Amino acid sequence: MKSQTLTNTSVDQTLALLNKNITDYQRLKPVRFEQFLKILNENPSRILRNVFQAFHDMITNYVDELGNADGTDKDKFAFTKYDCSRLFVEGSEDPYFTDMLFSNRFMKQMEYLRHGAQQNRIYIFYGPHGCGKSTFLNNLLKKFEMYSNTDEGIRYEIVWRLDVKKLKDKDTSLSVSTFEKLIQYVEKGRTEEFNPTEAEVFSGKDPDYIEVPCISHDNPFLAIPKDQRRAALDELIKNDEFKWRLFTEKEYEWVFKEEVCTICSSIYNALLERLGNPSEVFKMLYARPYYFNRRLGNGISVFNPGDQPLKQNILSNEMLQTRINSLFQDSNRINYLYSRFAKINNGIYALMDIKAHNTERMVELHNIISEGLHKVEDIEERVDALFFALMNPEDKRVLRDFPSFEDRIQYIDIPYVLDVKTEVKIYNNIFGRHIDTGFLPMVLENFARIIISTRIGKKSLALSEWIQNPLKYKNFCDEKLMLLKMELFSGHIPKWLEEEDVKSLDSKMLKKIISESEIYGKEGLSGRDSIKIFDQFYSKYAKEDRLINMSDLCMFFNKIDDQARKMIPQEFLESLLRMYDYSILQQVKESLYYYNEDQISKDIKNYISAVTHELDSVIRCIFTKEEIHVTDAFLESIENRLLSENADIRRRKEIRNDVLKEYTTRTLTHEMMIEGKDITRTRLFESLYDRYVHNLKKQVLEPFIENENFRNAIKDFDTKKFHTHDKRIKKDVRFLMNNLSDKFGYTLQGANEACIYVIDNGLAGKFK
Ligand SMILES: [Zn+2]
Repeated sequence: MKSQTLTNTSVDQTLALLNKNITDYQRLKPVRFEQFLKILNENPSRILRNVFQAFHDMITNYVDELGNADGTDKDKFAFTKYDCSRLFVEGSEDPYFTDMLFSNRFMKQMEYLRHGAQQNRIYIFYGPHGCGKSTFLNNLLKKFEMYSNTDEGIRYEIVWRLDVKKLKDKDTSLSVSTFEKLIQYVEKGRTEEFNPTEAEVFSGKDPDYIEVPCISHDNPFLAIPKDQRRAALDELIKNDEFKWRLFTEKEYEWVFKEEVCTICSSIYNALLERLGNPSEVFKMLYARPYYFNRRLGNGISVFNPGDQPLKQNILSNEMLQTRINSLFQDSNRINYLYSRFAKINNGIYALMDIKAHNTERMVELHNIISEGLHKVEDIEERVDALFFALMNPEDKRVLRDFPSFEDRIQYIDIPYVLDVKTEVKIYNNIFGRHIDTGFLPMVLENFARIIISTRIGKKSLALSEWIQNPLKYKNFCDEKLMLLKMELFSGHIPKWLEEEDVKSLDSKMLKKIISESEIYGKEGLSGRDSIKIFDQFYSKYAKEDRLINMSDLCMFFNKIDDQARKMIPQEFLESLLRMYDYSILQQVKESLYYYNEDQISKDIKNYISAVTHELDSVIRCIFTKEEIHVTDAFLESIENRLLSENADIRRRKEIRNDVLKEYTTRTLTHEMMIEGKDITRTRLFESLYDRYVHNLKKQVLEPFIENENFRNAIKDFDTKKFHTHDKRIKKDVRFLMNNLSDKFGYTLQGANEACIYVIDNGLAGKFK
């Protein structure tokens, strides 16, 4: 018995808790038109939105702009870096990853959308198999559904509450028996299944009215006669920037020009006639939040090719029609008749692939899209909606019979991913973030580069116009400059480009290169292929005790099946390997010599001070405040870093004179005194700094080539044998490993394996 009581208490508590926490339905409650006008007055830009504007707002709400792609040069890079992860990734079971090229193209279209010039159009997301189109569209629709049901995304729609008592009073001809009949209908309505997509009779506590929602989801403001709207808004909205835009811009034309749906307008007219007073009519007009629900087809209708067409195209609601007729005593007054397209007005209609039954649906859309109207028996039904479809290249022929349709179609290409980082994100999403730790740095990205190389054009007129001699970059890039192209597609201007080439890459040139890219990503290895290949590769080469390196990668792709092998451009693998070898060697070099920037900078400042004074004088450097005894030995110690070793006295005198001359005629007198530059930003300082570092790097690999003990110590690193090595060598090797991990993200094991790779492949000699 006791447990029975306990259970009852906890059940009660649970119900109380649910009662307290479930508040959603309150949000959806209709409000009086008067209240609606108050809401409009408080937030006009939110309330006066059609589906195009709301969709655009949703996009800007979820997409973050990370500023200019290149960061430094605003005009140079014609791209914006968009972070679309809140739109397509977050909260999604099946995320979609956008690369920079696609996100720019997509955002541009979404901007057009807002301006309303793009109504009467269908957006076709067009791309090859396996590019992720349906994931893309599903995520997009899901976010819009979510957004529409939040406070930011709220829009209102018309719902009429026809006050039975009031209308009866006004109508002397309404006999008692008819009235009784009507009440019976209303009572009957209570027991019937609630279906929010259909018109229903409101049968809550108050059975005194019939509730008729607007099938077309019209904005309640549109219930105001067209000729009164401007004056009404002028009164209602304060004079601010929004009001100015509302009254002048094309995107808001609908507020003044659009008719309310035929059902609402006939209700309005019938009521006005009966009640004889607009304010009485508006008392029966309510506004309720437009509730989006894809599963119920409310606001969003999505069709798959296999979905059977509905037998009935024209819908009515006989019960409601009878009630309305009884109420108005006139069977032709209000015709509650509509097509299923009415329901998508102000909403979204999407076809997932134009195949099978969706081909018929597409044909059906032809008239609606070009006219914006749909005939239902005698009535013209307005259909302003966002039309989306997905299409594979082979299905384009469906449209051949409708040449005029082409003008109404806005294609948005969804190519395969062309950006390395995005491609890697896809592997991470499918195989887990941990896969990164199974690779030596740069190797996973190179896997992605090979995949992408199959998707982009091998020849580029724009690139060969820009860089006439690609061979000068052979350590960084393939001869066809595909690797350079990939960098640009990711929004980078690589550091290894020479000054003159960076300069000649103006926005005109960049646009040429990018416009060539528009045909890329339609062929090559698909998204699905690349995941399959990655799976094969990873399961074969991932090991507990060693990391995946470039030799593994090259071996795998050299043996890959013919079909995939043929897609990878000739010599691409060799170039990629060369680029990798060169970069890893640079990393080792930089890590071998500790580039103490402060020390280098101090040396150069002291040197500049010293050459401006007589030999043998003792001076205080004006930059470092250090005391210097200017001797040949002092100057030589720094010159050894600026000139090649063993430079003769004539060469030394020359550099001292050059520095003195530059310092007095330009650095001090112009750059510092007139332009106000710091010494470290002057041309003299920068050129000496570069020479210093260059020479350091040149000499730094010597232990790798000439010192066998050093090489052996690297191979023994992390084993017992390592202790047997010379103390100084051990210190150098540890120093190298630590720098590699600090500067370039290696683990200690990875740093060790990278150095062994450099030794085993003789890289120190290869680029000498
Ligand atoms: Zn309506």
